[in-house]
Amino acid sequence: MGCNCRKKRKAKELIKEKEQERDKLLSIRKSWSDLNKQVRRQLTLIQSFGLSMASRGVTSKKTDGPTKQLRVLSCFGNLDVGGELIKCPHLKESKTPGKHYCGECGCGDRKGTHLVSQGEKYSKLDYPILSCPLKMPGFTNYEPSADNEKLPPMSRKAYIDTQLKPADIQRIKITIPDEDEESIIEIQEHLKD
Ligand code: SF4
Repeated sequence: MGCNCRKKRKAKELIKEKEQERDKLLSIRKSWSDLNKQVRRQLTLIQSFGLSMASRGVTSKKTDGPTKQLRVLSCFGNLDVGGELIKCPHLKESKTPGKHYCGECGCGDRKGTHLVSQGEKYSKLDYPILSCPLKMPGFTNYEPSADNEKLPPMSRKAYIDTQLKPADIQRIKITIPDEDEESIIEIQEHLKD
């Protein structure tokens, strides 16, 4: 009898944990979705570059942790932390050892174009507002995956949208460095091109 009670209690605790995990994920997704709805309206009026610049002054000067974690997932995947999401096909290795850049933006390999998950310098992925050519999760112009992307073979975007749990996102290691003038100038030069 006592043994059954313990099992039931354990099962209830597990269900509660799952529910809390699901609620957390829903709340992360809702916050990007709200931000993106608002920003997408603005994007129709203002060029992406202008918005990136403006975002530094009118909102936080750098993006928040969960958003940067999603951007890093979108670009780098999560194989390095035991996951199964491969990197974006457009992610290119830089000539600078250990650095990467987006090959789809057309901006080449320069200091201001580097996509950095962890580092001491403010980099492109730290901007509060930033667009991705594939409109991937975590970026300001994010668009949810279409239904046909969810069918096998599932797209990377659909995988992030539907398969990842909050714990998978939290496992992505990032740093959010303070703005530094030198990095900002480099990024501004890159975004102007
Ligand atoms: S296309 Fe988007 S997800 Fe891919 S590397 Fe470029 S910015 Fe990252």
